[in-house]
Amino acid sequence: MDILSLSMAETLEQYKQKNVKPSEVAQCYWDRAQKLNPKLNAWITFNEDFLAQALKADEKINDVDWSKSPLWSVPLGVKDMFCTKGIKTTAASKMLSNFTPPYDATVVERLKSAGALVLGKLNQDEFAMGSSNETSFYGPAYNPWNLEYVPGGSSGGSAAAMASKSCLVTLGTDTGGSIRQPSHFCGLVGVKPTYGRVSRYGIVAFASSLDQAGPMASTVTDAALILESMCGQDAKDQTSSDQKVAPWSKKLSAQVKGKKIGIIKEYWETSGLSEDVKQVTQNAYDYLKAEGAELVDLSIPLTEHAVAIYYLVASSEASSNLSRYDGVRYGHRANFENLSGINLDLFYSKNRGEGFGSEVKTRIMLGTYCLSAGYYDAYYKKASQVRRLLQEQFLNAFSKCDAIVSPVSTTPAFKLGHRIMNPLQMYLNDIFTVSANLVGIPAMTVPYGLSTDGSGLPIGVQIMSKHFDEQTMLDIGFALESASTMKGKFAHV
Ligand code: GLN
Repeated sequence: MDILSLSMAETLEQYKQKNVKPSEVAQCYWDRAQKLNPKLNAWITFNEDFLAQALKADEKINDVDWSKSPLWSVPLGVKDMFCTKGIKTTAASKMLSNFTPPYDATVVERLKSAGALVLGKLNQDEFAMGSSNETSFYGPAYNPWNLEYVPGGSSGGSAAAMASKSCLVTLGTDTGGSIRQPSHFCGLVGVKPTYGRVSRYGIVAFASSLDQAGPMASTVTDAALILESMCGQDAKDQTSSDQKVAPWSKKLSAQVKGKKIGIIKEYWETSGLSEDVKQVTQNAYDYLKAEGAELVDLSIPLTEHAVAIYYLVASSEASSNLSRYDGVRYGHRANFENLSGINLDLFYSKNRGEGFGSEVKTRIMLGTYCLSAGYYDAYYKKASQVRRLLQEQFLNAFSKCDAIVSPVSTTPAFKLGHRIMNPLQMYLNDIFTVSANLVGIPAMTVPYGLSTDGSGLPIGVQIMSKHFDEQTMLDIGFALESASTMKGKFAHV
């Protein structure tokens, strides 16, 4: 059996038929992850117990309770933002390079109790700040479709591992697009659920009003299955919602007849939008229309300010969240020969100066400035007010449509080293993704085409829907997936 050619749902089916054992599947992914990691740098830490856990699972294959263990023996890759009990969790920062959590993030705990086996921890931008995985303390990850290109960010390691078939499913976090943009760059299905759907407990905090976790998978069905196990209220996160988690995967329908699909005019007018991305998105519109959906023109005039609002809000919250890393309670402690003559300011600045990389420092300074007494009204408060207006524009748009389909980013993946020296260009890359986080709505990427410039890179489209209406979003994703020219195409790394 060609284990690597199976989706997660198909692998589960093979377990049920007893055609394959967990240890065989685990060994196959483990070997591939080990073999490719020197090339892709997708993993920071491997779970040394993974193979032993799979062997133990073999013994139980005859008495699995599938209703309780819907993800039984699924090899899972976890972004290094999620705390994993007994496995090093670094957020790809020197600051946390020695941190082994004594507990699991709620999401990890839920997936483990649904039967998933953690294969290891995945590379990312430092503290999830970045769009290319180039800010990682552990060095960049590489795009399996073309090694000269970035896999996207911040969940770049998750995307590279998934696209190279080094595990069956991965977890990412998305504060401004970090699940959707790498999924677009690497030909994957990536879902950011509604804010509040998923507990943030045990996930390293970046910007608390924006952060959500979600799956990066090879099919819409797999993503829906993972969501069913990871979503739902958690007493340990006061912002998690009590909205009922539906059996999304069972209800998936590719029927789009009569559905109203919104097209945001301002997205279409964005400068730098590549012809390939335009064409692939247009193909998606044409398909939906041919299947009986109605295309509706929308306007979100505040689109031009979305990136500015996002970087003010996200950096402000980050500066506050990251203040805990002081080298006393948490994080890297500099090597002080002798503490005499070192006052508290010097102590903190040496610990933090050594522990954080330059992108993280930039954001902390920007955020601290925005929140400081003299500038709070002009920056943080103003950004929050405009954020509210942006939310209203989206709610208004959703009174005219069921979902919005758009590009994910202005271009396919870019080359390593090409944008990292120009932060503004890097930040503008997030123009189509940040609004879903600022508004709190669910959004996902579905692969829909390939670039035509010879680089062989995938291109995805984004689907956004109303708060807590994951089903509509997933259904449209399911419909597009059925027509996608990317079906059955893989990175040949
Ligand atoms: N690229 C965005 C940033 O750098 C988004 C990051 C994210 O979603 N974690 O902030």
